[in-house]
Amino acid sequence: MLSAAFSFAEGTPSSRWFCLFCASENTGPVCTLCGRIRGIWCCATCGAENLTASCRSCGASRESSLKTQAADGNPLSAWPAVRVLSDEGAAEGIMALGRYYALGLMVPQDTVMALSCWQMAGTMGYAPAWLALAKLYDEGTLVSRDYRKAMEYYRKAADLNDPEAVWCLGTFYEEGFAVRQDFEKAMACYRQAADLGFADSWMSIAHCYDQGIGADRDEALALEYYEKAASLGSHLAYDYLGYRYMSGDRVPEDSARGIDYYMKAAELGNSRSMYALGYAYEHGEGVRRDLSEAARWYELAALAGRIDAAEALNRLLNEP
Ligand SMILES: [Zn+2]
Ligand SMILES: [Zn+2]
Repeated sequence: MLSAAFSFAEGTPSSRWFCLFCASENTGPVCTLCGRIRGIWCCATCGAENLTASCRSCGASRESSLKTQAADGNPLSAWPAVRVLSDEGAAEGIMALGRYYALGLMVPQDTVMALSCWQMAGTMGYAPAWLALAKLYDEGTLVSRDYRKAMEYYRKAADLNDPEAVWCLGTFYEEGFAVRQDFEKAMACYRQAADLGFADSWMSIAHCYDQGIGADRDEALALEYYEKAASLGSHLAYDYLGYRYMSGDRVPEDSARGIDYYMKAAELGNSRSMYALGYAYEHGEGVRRDLSEAARWYELAALAGRIDAAEALNRLLNEP
């Protein structure tokens, strides 16, 4: 299926090539659109233009430079590198190309092609591709929701030691999606994902101790694991601890500590904590009342996507 679109599937060097500046397809020695010679690439680190495998100015390799460009958040600037990397058969490029097909960016929307790209990148041993497929079936985007298939792809990614996939398997065991509910297996997955460095998995372990799921209930130990998740960079854990200390939920109420946790969560991009900080400044809870600080946090939370924060900001600005 892909061979129609990509030369690498045929295994022979093609006279056809894609320009790394304008992404256009060429056959001659010079790009017909932008005029650059075949093979010129632009270093993502220093901006120098090169023709050999490493940058003559800073030494960065062509491969790492292309991967950096392909990972650019702007789909337009990433596109030439994605096109070249996928054409050369690099898993990262094929995975990224799948996303362009899924969204219909730069190419006509084509779900079958998107799935084929991710299958191919996954088969090459690229775990994020299996994870992406699993999430499609888990969430029912582009395809109809299918927990059995999601489980199958999570397993493939987990076999490649993808920490998030291992954690997702745990949630399937905990919820009983596509498998018989098994709290002990859930806990084992959470522990494995945590050991692989997935900070949010400590949240799940904490939750299990909090509720007595797959382990004897132990609130003190649970709190310790929430702290651990937070210290390893889980914004969800910081946000949750912020809520616990602000409200005195099974801990001595400590609003200064609560604010401190909310601040840390907000720094890591947690929009719920940004909203909570806006609320705290508006009502003088744990901080001195400060309406301009309240407005600032509401605005940040709204920019991060929270509609309730946009409404709060609007109310604050229009109050007499
Ligand atoms: Zn060009
Ligand atoms: Zn360079």
